[in-house]
Amino acid sequence: MALVPEALGKLQAAGLEILVETGAGAGAAIPDAVFSEAGATIVTTDQLYQQADVVLRVARPAAAEVARLRSGQAVVGFLQPLIDPKLAGELAAKGVTAISLDAIPRTLSRAQTMDALSSQANVGGYKAVLIAANEYGRYFPLLTTAAGTARPANVLILGIGVAGLQAIGTARRLGAVVKAYDVRPETREQAESLGAQFVKLKTSIDATGAGGYARELTAEERAAQQAELNEVIAGMDIVITTAQVPGRKPPVLVTADAVKGMKPGSVIVDMAASALGGNCELSKAGETVVTDNAVTIVAPENLPASMPAGASAFYARNISALLLGMVKDGNLSLDLDDEVTKATVIAHDGRVVSEPVAKLLEAAPAAAAGPGGAA
Ligand code: NAD
Repeated sequence: MALVPEALGKLQAAGLEILVETGAGAGAAIPDAVFSEAGATIVTTDQLYQQADVVLRVARPAAAEVARLRSGQAVVGFLQPLIDPKLAGELAAKGVTAISLDAIPRTLSRAQTMDALSSQANVGGYKAVLIAANEYGRYFPLLTTAAGTARPANVLILGIGVAGLQAIGTARRLGAVVKAYDVRPETREQAESLGAQFVKLKTSIDATGAGGYARELTAEERAAQQAELNEVIAGMDIVITTAQVPGRKPPVLVTADAVKGMKPGSVIVDMAASALGGNCELSKAGETVVTDNAVTIVAPENLPASMPAGASAFYARNISALLLGMVKDGNLSLDLDDEVTKATVIAHDGRVVSEPVAKLLEAAPAAAAGPGGAA
C-alpha cells in the first residue's frame, strides 16, 4: 500500500487532500475506517481516477490502469522506466507526469528518506532469513539441552548491499554463525561490524562500480570466484543470495555443481530471482524446488509484499518525503533543476524528459509507440 494512516498528517499539513481507493489497504491490514479516521476520503476506483491530481502507487500501472490515467495527472511509484521504457512513452503520450521512486539519486543524503529501493531491500533481507529458518529442519542457534546439543547453523550471505546487511543482522540475532561475501572490498568492515565473518577469496577481485554498485565480473574473474566459492558453499547449511548488477541479469554465484556439493537439508534463498534468472543456477522464480540431494531452493519474487504492513509503513514514508519535496501551496510544482526532481520525473508535459529513458526509447522506437491518445 502506497500510504499508511500515520503518513497522512504531514501531507495534510502541506495542504494536500488524501483520497483512498476503497479496500486499498486491506492487504496490509488497514481497513478503510482507519484511513477515514486519519482524515482521508474513501472513494471508488472511478472517483479516484476522476478526482486525483496525483496518484500514489507501489508498482507499475497495468494497461487498464494506464487507460484510466488522464492528461495533467501525475503518477508516482516504482515505475521501473529502465526496464519498461515503453510505459514511460505511453504515459508521456497521454500527457501524464510520471515520477519514479526507483530513479532516486541514492547517494544524495537528502534523498535517503525517499530511498524506497533501500527500505524494501531491508524488508526483503529480513524476510529471506525467516524463510530460510522456516525451511531448515534444524536450529539456527546453539542449543544445549538435556536431550542433547544442537549445533548452530552455518549461514552464508552472498552480496552485502542493503538486503545482505539486514540478512546478516537477522541471522545473527537468531544465533547462526554467519559468513558473508561481496565483490566490493569496502563491504568487509560493514559485514564484520554486524558479526559476520567476511569470506576473503585467494583470487582478489575488486568489482566496485559507479555509485556504490558492483560492476559485472569478467569471465576470468567469474571462473576464479566460482571455484573458490563452491568450496565455501559446500560447508554451509543456509545460503542467502542478494547479488544484483543494475540493469543486468543477476550473476550466477551458486551453480548446479555447488548445489550438488551441499549437504541434504541445506536451504538456499535466492533474493535475486526473477524472470531474468537468479543467483542460483537452479532457482525457479516464484517457486520452491527440492533437489535430488535434498537441498531446498526458495526463489521468492516479491519479499516485501509478504510483509505488507511493515513494507507499506516504510514505503509510505519514502513516497511522502518525495512528494512533499515537489509540493508548493498544496499543488504539485516541479522544479526540473532540482537534483531529485530531475532524476525522478520521467515524463512531463507530453514528453519523456529522463535522458536515459529517452535514449532507450530512441534505441527501440517500436517500444515508443504508445496508445497515441495524447489528450
Ligand atoms: P544491489 O541490490 O545492487 O546488490 C547487492 C550486492 O550484491 C551489492 O553489495 C553488490 O556489490 C553485490 N554483488 C554484485 N555482484 C556480485 C558478485 N558477482 N558477487 C558477489 N556480490 C556481488 O545493492 P544495493 O543493496 O542496492 O546497494 C548498492 C550500493 O548502494 C551499496 O554500496 C550501498 O551501500 C549503496 N547505497 C547507498 C546509499 C546511500 O548512500 N544513501 C543508499 C542505499 C544504497
